[in-house]
Amino acid sequence: MKNPARRSRRTAWAAAVLLAIVAGDAAAQRVFPGNTRDTSSVTRLIILGSGTPLPDPERAGPAFAVTYGTRVFLFDAGSGVMRRAAAAALPIDGFTAVFLTHLHSDHTLGLPDVIHTSWVMGRSAPMPVIGPPGTSAMVGHIQAAWVEDIVVRTEGLEHGRKGGHRVVVQETTGGIVYDSAGIRIRAIPVPHGAWNHAFAFRIDTPDRSIMLGGDTAPSKELETASAGVDLLVHEVYASRRVAPEQRPGGEHWPQYLREYHTSDEELGALATRVRPKQLILTHVLRMGGTMDEVVAGVRRGGFAGTLVVAKDLDRF
Ligand SMILES: [Zn+2]
Ligand SMILES: [Zn+2]
Repeated sequence: MKNPARRSRRTAWAAAVLLAIVAGDAAAQRVFPGNTRDTSSVTRLIILGSGTPLPDPERAGPAFAVTYGTRVFLFDAGSGVMRRAAAAALPIDGFTAVFLTHLHSDHTLGLPDVIHTSWVMGRSAPMPVIGPPGTSAMVGHIQAAWVEDIVVRTEGLEHGRKGGHRVVVQETTGGIVYDSAGIRIRAIPVPHGAWNHAFAFRIDTPDRSIMLGGDTAPSKELETASAGVDLLVHEVYASRRVAPEQRPGGEHWPQYLREYHTSDEELGALATRVRPKQLILTHVLRMGGTMDEVVAGVRRGGFAGTLVVAKDLDRF
């Protein structure tokens, strides 16, 4: 028989770890009043923001949640992210971790919202934020910009929890950024014009595999890393609407699109090779065209599989 003292020590240690995890999760469970959280052990992708820099009232800035049990992972933090998270019955007092594909403003304008609203709604523990080099500086500037708010909320009658606004930043240049209790998240460097660092994220859970493409030109790395995924979420622009724009520098617009983004036809070809169970279009640059036109472009590119244009609050 094995050493009982050692076994009981190990059991106590495991219980302490479990307690810490449960306590941590329990701390981040507050939802918008009247909503009920889904904490089943089934992976869900929730579109919080399917938009672009265009302030379309129907589409919040880029943001996606992947949930499994009590864990909620946020990918990108576009404008409106906390309102959409509340509408989706996700916790409003903090996420398990926040991942940033890159630091373009349309993907990060909601980061102050994520950091400060989660605190005001009860967050007390530092929240992990994982992003490219530059993320620490951005978070530092956000904390500095709201320093008077932080002082008033903690020193005044609101009695805000001291330090509850804190986040822990982990900068990455790619690779595994989360690996715990059956969930693995990998950052894949993708080409996004002049950005030195931009990522797609592949999320593998016990029952699902998801590739979130972020903002990217056609990427061989993304294509390879997407092998066998259930869901491929990808940005796209309307190839037949590409034309110079009538503004200073507008003659470079077609080149910008080519170097920073993926056309409908290019995506159709890529998805044909990847063969995801479902292709989800988001961050669609229609440029005056219709969604049907973009979908037709993806079909022209060769993709004949299941294709959905994401709408905010869609669940997959
Ligand atoms: Zn973008
Ligand atoms: Zn971008």
